[in-house]
Parts: sequence; C-alpha cells; structure tokens
Amino acid sequence: MPRLVSHPDEVKIISRRFGQGAAEIDRYIELDGYKAAQAAIEKGPEWIIAEMKASGLRGRGGAGFPTGMKWSFVPKQSEKPKYVLVNGDESEPGTCKDHLIFLHDPHAVIEGTLIAGLAIGAKMGFIYLRGEYRYLLKIMEKAVADAYAKGFLGKNIFGSGIDFEVVTQTGAGAYEVGEESALMESLEGKRGVPRIKPPFPAVVGLYGGPTVINNAETIATAPHILLMGGEAYAKVGTERNGGTRLFGISGHVERPGVYELPMGFNLKRAIYEVAGGIPGGKKLKAVVPGGSSTPVLLPEEIDVGLDFDQMAKAGTMLGSGGVVVIDESVCMVEFALRTIKFYQHESCGWCIPCREGTDWLKKSITRLHAGGAVDKDIDNIRYLAENMMGRTFCPLGDAAAMPTIGFVKKFRHEFEEHLNGKGCPYEHQREAVLV
Ligand code: NAD
Repeated sequence: MPRLVSHPDEVKIISRRFGQGAAEIDRYIELDGYKAAQAAIEKGPEWIIAEMKASGLRGRGGAGFPTGMKWSFVPKQSEKPKYVLVNGDESEPGTCKDHLIFLHDPHAVIEGTLIAGLAIGAKMGFIYLRGEYRYLLKIMEKAVADAYAKGFLGKNIFGSGIDFEVVTQTGAGAYEVGEESALMESLEGKRGVPRIKPPFPAVVGLYGGPTVINNAETIATAPHILLMGGEAYAKVGTERNGGTRLFGISGHVERPGVYELPMGFNLKRAIYEVAGGIPGGKKLKAVVPGGSSTPVLLPEEIDVGLDFDQMAKAGTMLGSGGVVVIDESVCMVEFALRTIKFYQHESCGWCIPCREGTDWLKKSITRLHAGGAVDKDIDNIRYLAENMMGRTFCPLGDAAAMPTIGFVKKFRHEFEEHLNGKGCPYEHQREAVLV
C-alpha cells in the first residue's frame, strides 16, 4: 500500500485532504466538501463546463484528453439516458494514485461524479473499481450511503428538485477493463473486451447512452476546480497542461511514494530532490516515466518537464503518472521481459496482433535473455513490436509494443550481451552476490 509522503515542492490540491479523516462525511464537509456541488447546482451546466475548460485539466488516466471538451461533446438532447462512469480500474504497473483518493478522499470522487452528472444532464453515475481494490469498495460504499443519508444523492438532491443516483461496482481483476469500452462491456455484465471507436462513449456509451467516462483522479479534481476557479487552477501548471497531478515515484529512489506536483515539474528534480535520489550511491540507468506502457528514458534525457507536451517532445509519454526509477544493477533485457510478460498475461485475446504479438514477444525475449538468440533476433523483436503498433482494437497492443521498441532502441548493447549462448551477465552478478 503506498504510504503518505510529503515534500515542500508539492502543491496540494487533490491530495489536500489525504490523512485528514475526510472519508467521514462530516469531516469532508468541514473541509469544504460538497460546496462545489452546491455551486454547480446553483450556477448550472454551462458554468461548470466553462470552468472545466478554463482549468486546462487533461485526463489523468493517461491519455490527457481535455476534460471540459469531453464533457461538452455529450449531446444536450438524448433519447437514451446519459451516464457518468468513473474509471477506477487503475492497473498500469507503476501506478497507485487513484488508490489513495479512494482511501483518503472517497467523497471527492462522489462529488466529482455528481458535478459531471450535472454538467451533462445525467441522472446516474457508476464508480468502477479494479477487482484488486475490493477492500476499497467498502470505503466507497459507506461514503455513498452517507451521501444518500445527507440528501446529497438520490431524489431531490440538496433540495434542488434534481435526482442523481450513484452505484459502485468492482471488476474481477483484468487489466483490459481499464480500457474505457471494455470497462463498459464489463459493467454491462459481459466479457470485458474492447469496442470499436468511434463512436466514442460521449456519444454512444454505457447501455448505448451518451457517457462521460473519466479516470478517478480527473473526476475527483472537478470539485477543487469549481472551488478555486478554473483559471486559478490552470495557472498552477503549464500552458495547455493545467493544475497539478499525482505522480507515483517508485523503484530505486530513497523516498518512494505518491507526490502531488504542478504539471511541468522537472522529472530530474522529482527523482533526485522530491524522491531523494538513488539509494546506495548507485548510478541511474533508466526511467520509465508514465507507467509501464511509456517508452523508457536514459539518464541524459530526464531534464524534462512532466507534462503531456514536453514528454511527447522527449519521445515518450506522461501516461498514468507512474515514474519507475531503475538503477545500474538492473538487466534491461530482464526488465523488458517482465514488462512483456505482464502484457501477454493481460491481453484479452480479442484481436490477433495483440494476442499473438505479445506471446511471440514474450517467447523471443525469454529465449534471448537465456542466451538462446542470435544477432538478427534483436531486429526481429523490434520488427514484431513495430508491426503491432496501431493494429489492435485497443491501446493494449501499443502499450506492449512501445516500451519494447524503446528498450531495444536504447539498450541494444545489453540485448547483444546476451546473444550466442552467453545469457544474462546480471544473473552471474546476482549469483556471485548470493555465494
Ligand atoms: P484515447 O486517446 O483513445 O482517448 C482518451 C479519451 O478521450 C477517451 O475517453 C476517449 O473516449 C476520449 N476521446 C478521444 N477522442 C475523442 C473524440 N473525438 N470525441 C469524444 N471523445 C474522445 O486514449 P485511451 O485509449 O482512453 O487511453 C490510453 C491511455 O491510457 C494511455 O496513454 C495510457 O497511459 C493510459 N493507461 C492508463 C492506465 C491506468 O491504470 N491509469 C492503464 C493503462 C493505460
């Protein structure tokens, strides 16, 4: 479980109630809870969407789609009911931020769901947690029940004449249902496999109705934006990247944890100053900057701002905000192998390039790591990964291919060191240590 950490460089907006007992509704109310929802009821949908657009908030799940714009895409008139769906299926390796929100500030998720519902004219919201977060479901269920008891959910919320229901649900432990269309299939009680997009959920979503689906951090940020004002929130971040974000810094750092930093915060400073640098005087070898699907960076590439645009310029992605720090003791071929094993295991098997591609990559890298490969196998691995890119129903195929291409490109020398029966040089080091 990620522990609560703190650093003077943090700007606490989304995390300001962590550790403050805000899972209890009365404490949440004391800490300005449900004020934003009341303002949203009074001022109406256009105001909410204008504030969200002004905030520059971009989807915190990983893709960075502008939230206000997404909400504005939902048609005003619809024959089918509209829905809000909170994606709490946080499963990207290296990512453990939404978990803290559910644990410490569940009402922020509920209030954000309600605000999104008011913005698009929905009467119902679903909060979907990953299967492994079943124990957090109890916290969410209690928070939802308390909100009903106060009249903040249900019929005639806040005495406004508006009705809004919230339902909680968990998955069964599949990474794939973190993809929004697979999540909707799962919620509808079907096998969690992706749908073809377009149509996007904003137009045809849950049960065929227009649906706003947002990551839990995105949704939980909405009340803060309405309280502080969209423009003030935007100013905390960089151009086109408003506000702050929860970054999970893990791996070889002195102080791993989830830190709330302004968008655009320098990655090198985040590792060396906020998270305390590499333990034991070891050298930094690599950084996976935004969850396991984002291409790796070399030490000389980390002097870069943590926002969607600067990371794209650096040839990688901000992704889900999970920064994984790797020191010199790690074999990058083994790291690549662990990564691809995850995607092979989690591929839902719905489309061939992903199902077969991840399996072939796993087999090829396993053989290479054990010393059973020759020079041309390295190119074959890269060729295979490149041919998966853009050819799958959902981004899982790309998520497996992108880091693989990055590892081969930037650590080719380490792949070469394993060839022709040599096997893993790091394995011998480890054995020597054990002896
Ligand atoms: P995407 O770019 O396809 O879509 C992002 C969002 O914008 C979606 O909600 C989509 O419906 C919406 N959208 C895009 N174009 C639209 C349009 N024209 N009209 C209406 N809505 C539109 O990305 P994605 O497939 O949702 O997500 C991929 C990202 O997920 C990756 O970048 C990765 O970082 C991240 N990810 C996160 C986790 C996690 O645990 N947080 C796990 C796996 C992957």
